[in-house]
Amino acid sequence: MHALEQIRELALNCQACGLAGRRNNVVFGEGDPNSPLVLVGEGPGDQEDRTGRPFVGRAGQLLDRALDEAGPGRACVYICNTVKCRAADWTSGKPVNRAPTELESEACRRWLVPQLNAIAPKVILCVGAPSARNLIKKDFKITRERGLYFPCQYAKTAIATLHPSYILRQQSANGDDGGYGLLVSDIQKAWLAALKLCDKNESHPAVELR
Ligand code: URA
Repeated sequence: MHALEQIRELALNCQACGLAGRRNNVVFGEGDPNSPLVLVGEGPGDQEDRTGRPFVGRAGQLLDRALDEAGPGRACVYICNTVKCRAADWTSGKPVNRAPTELESEACRRWLVPQLNAIAPKVILCVGAPSARNLIKKDFKITRERGLYFPCQYAKTAIATLHPSYILRQQSANGDDGGYGLLVSDIQKAWLAALKLCDKNESHPAVELR
């Protein structure tokens, strides 16, 4: 069995944090495990929890459109999240999505790190600030630092972009594109860098790619 499949099998039975108790599915990740580009989001929502697949709700549909426009399309990349189970507040009786806690994110690194090591992508695209804070640096500022190359332990370089859920909120609040164009151009940049790194097989690409 491929290392990634073994990690997935183990992750499906994870009980490492409190999210395990309420989940319907562990959303491990999917796509081309040989892709030079991995997208890492924050964590699954309702649709993802129901289906066991990352980015399949409204935000996922926007991301799919951006992936098509940017070039690779969804089939040519690998997509996962920093946290593999849905984080929700149940105090009202019904689940309301919330950000994963530090403890939950930390617990889930036991899956994220081996997952990324097994894929060994050239480029990681962090989708949203929480992912960038997890994989690039703790004080990452998404509005100022998105679209730039950063060193990353798990790939030759990492770039962050706006989260599609944020873009959807901005679109309904302001009636403009909400940053959708930036999402497309960041994906394009990440994809071209990944292809270039495949060609060159360089070890320190970030400076040259700037
Ligand atoms: N938001 C994320 O960050 N990940 C998903 O899989 C879905 C929505």
